[in-house]
Amino acid sequence: MSNERRIEPPSICAVGSPVTVSGNSGTVSDSPHRDGAPAPERKGRGPVSEPGHDRVVVFDTTLRDGEQSPGASMNLSQKLRVAKALAELGVDVIEAGFAAASPGDFEAIQAIARQLEGPAICSLSRCNRGDIEASWNALKDAPKKRIHVFLATSPIHRDFKLKMAKEEIVRRAVEGVKLAREKCEDVEFSTEDAARTELEFLAEVVERAIDAGATTLNIPDTVGYALPQTYAETLGYLKKHVRGIDRVVISVHCHNDLGLAVANSLAGVMVGARQVECTINGIGERAGNASLEEIVMAIKTRADVLRVATGVKTERLYPTSRLVSQVTGINVQRNKAIVGQNAFAHEAGIHQHGMLTHRETYEIMRPEEVGFSRSSLVLGKHSGRHALKERLAALGYKLDDAQLDKVFAEFKVLCDKKKEIYDADLEALVIHGQILAAGQRAWELEALSTTSGTGTLPAASIALRNRQGERFQEACGGDGPVDAVLKAIERITGITGKLRDYQIHSVTVGEDAQGEVVLELEHPTGVYRGRALSTDIIEGSARAYLDVVNRIALKEPAASAQSEAVRELGTV
Ligand SMILES: [Zn+2]
Repeated sequence: MSNERRIEPPSICAVGSPVTVSGNSGTVSDSPHRDGAPAPERKGRGPVSEPGHDRVVVFDTTLRDGEQSPGASMNLSQKLRVAKALAELGVDVIEAGFAAASPGDFEAIQAIARQLEGPAICSLSRCNRGDIEASWNALKDAPKKRIHVFLATSPIHRDFKLKMAKEEIVRRAVEGVKLAREKCEDVEFSTEDAARTELEFLAEVVERAIDAGATTLNIPDTVGYALPQTYAETLGYLKKHVRGIDRVVISVHCHNDLGLAVANSLAGVMVGARQVECTINGIGERAGNASLEEIVMAIKTRADVLRVATGVKTERLYPTSRLVSQVTGINVQRNKAIVGQNAFAHEAGIHQHGMLTHRETYEIMRPEEVGFSRSSLVLGKHSGRHALKERLAALGYKLDDAQLDKVFAEFKVLCDKKKEIYDADLEALVIHGQILAAGQRAWELEALSTTSGTGTLPAASIALRNRQGERFQEACGGDGPVDAVLKAIERITGITGKLRDYQIHSVTVGEDAQGEVVLELEHPTGVYRGRALSTDIIEGSARAYLDVVNRIALKEPAASAQSEAVRELGTV
């Protein structure tokens, strides 16, 4: 698959200047980044590209498509935190939600639109006036904004979901794009389930959408059905047969049902797509979306073949991945490419020898490039506030004085429990602090003690304080100390449910490592996730369970009504 057509880097939409591609740029210089030859620093936002490289627009949909993965719903402050991290990462477009889906989605998009600078903010809409107006109302205060309208085009969706004939689909698509263009200069149109749509009909819909004013044309593989070659052929067909396609940015949006989302996205880029839609850690419905970090690092590492570039600051990939994993409670598998714990681990002796002689023997990327730290032991008991601040800044966390005071206090407490403080420990303190600070608490843990052992009956005694400052105490037996603790909390708070998941992970290495406890509880009002961090796993379990109890008391379900609503409405 050769990349014949060269295009200029697209400019990202400000008001009155939608994303456009135009003309033919010159040749491509043969200067991929190699180990030891650092990438030129990219400053600011917008259409920054390396000489001779086409710019690929990175469209992040972690907050919309990613949030549709079961149990991944985020509250408003968590969404804002993730959006800020995405802006720092350097993505070009943030799809912040589906404004018409629920008041919660609307509010989140509006808050992000009002508070964030840098990337264009986008909202998904069906092709109807109500959805498009909701998107516009949520987006209108953003410095850069985009309305994304979609309509299914495949026979199975036409016949069984929409019950519309082809002519009706074309009419609605045109109407939707026109309505969106009345509000916004930057309009993306998606042909839902494009990968299973007849090519001729797909070309017709795309051409009409371009005529109606769409500035980006997205060709989604909504159900993850395509193969790299078939997907590239679909895009190639459109490029050949659609009048006016050179005026718009072609976008790819791939799902991972066959494990091919990234491969398909890159196959699209190789035939001229200049926008990739993706999510952090590849989260999304079912098997997920194409993973942002994998696409970005493939583009960077194989620039010799792909000959394109993104504006992503790759050294922010790992911290952003950690944040999304912490906020959603969805862990990243150890062997996940780019951001998994083992992605850069070399344990076999033969590899280590090769690595010491020459790094490139077994390493095609440097861990530092994606934000993994090489340093292991960083701080300890005698480290001061300044050293902590410096280390956090190096990890990419800029805290104000009040936040730093809080993290420093927690750091000192941790130093008493743990000799060696690693980067991951610091990161966990900061992220947990941000997540917990986001919510109010109905119940606080005051005291806890447990007994367990061979031949004794496990028991827990616990004291909690409510918001009015009243103290409650309870003692319970159980199958084990954790079970006894959870029962005691249930008795005091009166909140019970079915425990669906309970996991403990070690944040770093060593016997005194902090454990992160994540649990999921099914309650009549919804599914709730809680998490906590502690060097003591029983205390961590109590705190994680209290986190859930507090969410229930304050009604912050994980599998929120808005995800359900989105699923009902259909999606790209
Ligand atoms: Zn999708």
